[in-house]
Amino acid sequence: MSYGSSLIQELKDNGITHQGVLDAIKKVPREAFISSDLQYRAYDNTALPIDSKQTISQPYVVALMTQSLFEHPHPQKILEIGTGSGYQAAILATLFKEVWTIERIELLHLKAKKVLTELKFNNVHFKLGDGTLGWPEAAPFDGIIVTAAITAPPSALMEQLSPNGGIMVIPLGAYHQVQKLTILERNQNVMTQKVVELVSFVPLIADHKISPNAK
Ligand code: SAM
Repeated sequence: MSYGSSLIQELKDNGITHQGVLDAIKKVPREAFISSDLQYRAYDNTALPIDSKQTISQPYVVALMTQSLFEHPHPQKILEIGTGSGYQAAILATLFKEVWTIERIELLHLKAKKVLTELKFNNVHFKLGDGTLGWPEAAPFDGIIVTAAITAPPSALMEQLSPNGGIMVIPLGAYHQVQKLTILERNQNVMTQKVVELVSFVPLIADHKISPNAK
């Protein structure tokens, strides 16, 4: 399958300018994260369904969120909340030194781990659990990317963001409504924020428990 030069052109037309991000989108085979019946749509610029009623994000949104992390002067350690298919984690692992990713649904956690291992990514740490609690043992992070919607940034994630220009990219708003993709920047205890896009994500479920039997 080709990596769809039309997809790359579409990303450029939509304001993705970071060459490293464009190269990562070209390099990571999105079809590896998608079920066999949807392979023909792997390079469409759309979100697609994955297991457990979740979604693999639209390539444009993946690219925009990733590009936003470069607002940090030298990003190396990135935390992702919502592993899902593992595609975003693979893009991050292509660009950054070390990636931590958390998923609350066991089936997705296990499948993503398997695919990334098969694709020979060895700089990704996986956790099954509630991502709203973050990963305190590995903090602080230069960047935190939240790939599910919530009305306000979880306080644990704010605390785990580097105080020296740490960047959090997060869709803020209620599920079933358009959310504001927001970039938060932390400098010591001062947070600044800007909205960069309107998006539609599945909800971030802050239930502080895992769901091992979710299908
Ligand atoms: N980044 C993913 C990818 O590349 O395929 C797409 C993520 S999907 C839009 C959102 C994911 O967030 C779902 O897999 C969902 O189960 C997960 N999620 C929701 N609430 C969560 C939580 N509290 N902790 C961890 N993961 C959560």
